[in-house]
Amino acid sequence: MKRLLMLLLIAGLGLAKPACALDAHGQDAVADQSAVIVAFLNNLKADNSVYMGTHKIEFFAALSKGQTPKATVVTCSDSRVQANMFDRSPEGELFTVRNIGNQMATAEGSVEYGVHHLHTPILLFIGHSRCGAIAAVGGNYSKESDAIRRELDTITISKDLNNIDGVRANVHNQVTGAMLKFAEEIASGRLIVIGAVMDFADDLHQGAGKLHLINMNGEMDPAKLENVSALLAKQKPKPAAEAPARKTAIPVKPAAAPAHH
Ligand SMILES: [Zn+2]
Repeated sequence: MKRLLMLLLIAGLGLAKPACALDAHGQDAVADQSAVIVAFLNNLKADNSVYMGTHKIEFFAALSKGQTPKATVVTCSDSRVQANMFDRSPEGELFTVRNIGNQMATAEGSVEYGVHHLHTPILLFIGHSRCGAIAAVGGNYSKESDAIRRELDTITISKDLNNIDGVRANVHNQVTGAMLKFAEEIASGRLIVIGAVMDFADDLHQGAGKLHLINMNGEMDPAKLENVSALLAKQKPKPAAEAPARKTAIPVKPAAAPAHH
């Protein structure tokens, strides 16, 4: 009996050895991950406490009343791009949509909600330096899952561009697409579509972390983009009274009326 137990034990150990090694490795990884999660949640709670403490009750009361954001913003999901890089208080101000490659095509409903229901006067697309989605589109992504491929297929840029040029080309494409979709809002002066690049890597050599405005309603000339007021004045729609159709329509009506008497 004792011998049998011993044999079973040896056999068990023999069989269990590789599994034990795997388990130990796996457990280390799980322990590491648990430490990361615990630290993350502790930071989350601590930062949130600071946030609650540094914002007045009036601030939260204003948020509770509703939202009237100034801009619908479409940015890449990339963790290195966050609103605090260009807006110190985005609460209630930015209606933000995020996805890989800062696209309208894969989040059209959300973008429409911002423009049509919240009536933001600005639709802002923000690409960024060192974008993984743009890098993927430039290479072969056929082995990615269906869901990921679907979200990369909608980025239509030339494969021979370097990363920052690809990022810029994609932002211009997004602006062009949005100008077609929201042509009516733009023509009536209710919306301006802006394209920008957050260059945290200083790939455009104008300072790390600079937000570059590269397109406004199709205008891409950097000199003209500097003077936003002039650009808006030029694109301002003509007042309805200046439209010739209404001037001719008015006298026709009274002239036709006496004929019935
Ligand atoms: Zn990206």
